[in-house]
Amino acid sequence: MSCCYNSHMTNTLPTAGAERVPPAAFHIMLKPRGAICNLDCKYCYFLSKEMMYPGSRFRMADDMLEDYTRQYIEAQQAPEVTFAWQGGEPTLMGLDFFRQAIVYQHKHQRPGMRIHNALQTNGTLLDEEWCRFFHDNGFLIGLSLDGPRALHDAYRVDKGGKPTFERVMTAARLMQQHKVEFNILTTVHAANADHAVEVYRFLRDEVRTQFMQFIPIVERDNDTGYQEGEKVTNRSVTGEQYGRFLIAIFDEWARRDVGRVFVQLFDVALAAWLGERAGLCIFEETCGAALAMEHNGDVYSCDHFVEPRHKLGNIVDIPLLDMVRSDQQWAFGQAKRDSLPQYCRECEVRFVCNGGCPKDRILMTPAGESGLNYLCAGYRAFFNHIDAPMKFMAAELRAKRPPANLMRHLAQRDAELLRLFAAAGRNDPCPCGSGRKFKQCHGKA
Ligand code: SF4
Ligand code: SF4
Repeated sequence: MSCCYNSHMTNTLPTAGAERVPPAAFHIMLKPRGAICNLDCKYCYFLSKEMMYPGSRFRMADDMLEDYTRQYIEAQQAPEVTFAWQGGEPTLMGLDFFRQAIVYQHKHQRPGMRIHNALQTNGTLLDEEWCRFFHDNGFLIGLSLDGPRALHDAYRVDKGGKPTFERVMTAARLMQQHKVEFNILTTVHAANADHAVEVYRFLRDEVRTQFMQFIPIVERDNDTGYQEGEKVTNRSVTGEQYGRFLIAIFDEWARRDVGRVFVQLFDVALAAWLGERAGLCIFEETCGAALAMEHNGDVYSCDHFVEPRHKLGNIVDIPLLDMVRSDQQWAFGQAKRDSLPQYCRECEVRFVCNGGCPKDRILMTPAGESGLNYLCAGYRAFFNHIDAPMKFMAAELRAKRPPANLMRHLAQRDAELLRLFAAAGRNDPCPCGSGRKFKQCHGKA
């Protein structure tokens, strides 16, 4: 599978609470090969979508590719347009399909418009020819890699159950040799969630990537593959685990990698602390500008809701823009804010969290209201943990100084704390400010 767990980067959503305005630009995850994949990742939410198209060849036809390219470009009012290729595994379409896609993009491109291509892949089919093509055409590649060998291979196996780590690492090396721009998408699940720093250092020091995304696996335990039922599989990360995972990586990053390594969630958080839009749909107040299109032209409200009740239509029958502007899509997007439980409305980190993605809202609040995010405990712990450093970086940016000054600031603070720890008595309050006795906190060891 293409590991399309990544959430949609978009800064073109209609403003929450504003009058109804169609988005000036929107984003569609394209699935030219549908759910077909050469791997069999245990936690993949998309493989089951194959059942929705019995008898299909799962190949986007040439006329569909051109029709989509034309409609997608015509519908955008923004000067930059991104084609997002996903799956299943999009490279199973073969290179000629993408060469043709570029031909159609050039054919329908408006003067002054810039077109980008982003492709999410498991990497196992990449070779020199693919890499040359990606480089020559400026593709941004998302490569799925869950950490060092044992952690990656825990769930990311091929159809024969064989590990894939070696093949993915080969793809990373090939892309580096060919100067292909890529980032690593790491899903966080039961197998790697307790190894945060190990995963982070592996990506930074051995894969030598500067761009990382850490996406939580919250996998519904049902037979339909739809977002229904309240049980999750035991491969899923827990909310608390996800919070600890992010905190451990943030603490390492904040002390040595600010400005050198870019973790999507940290950038998104900093935007929120600066009072800007998050730019990542899961933390926006509303959604609805990030859709998905299947190989046959069927359009759905979101990549995570490719299911009959969220189908908007087919681009052969209904113009794409009409579906994007439809009442159904508007309602889908607004429901994210309108269904937020009181517990979230009163939460101190709502400004950055906004209740998270609706697909994960399966818990009850302490007061018994439904719609609390499964990851709430993790989000709340993480966003509170980073409050002070985020405020520091935001202030530096406002003063036109580099946020990387955080590293020096923390080094000074850590040195001061060490001095205080050395002077603290066992029954004194811990100098870290936890409120606990020193012997029960940093003095424990
Ligand atoms: S439901 Fe909304 S927040 Fe969740 S992935 Fe889809 S667009 Fe993003
Ligand atoms: S941290 Fe929890 S309570 Fe706060 S907004 Fe997010 S999901 Fe809601």
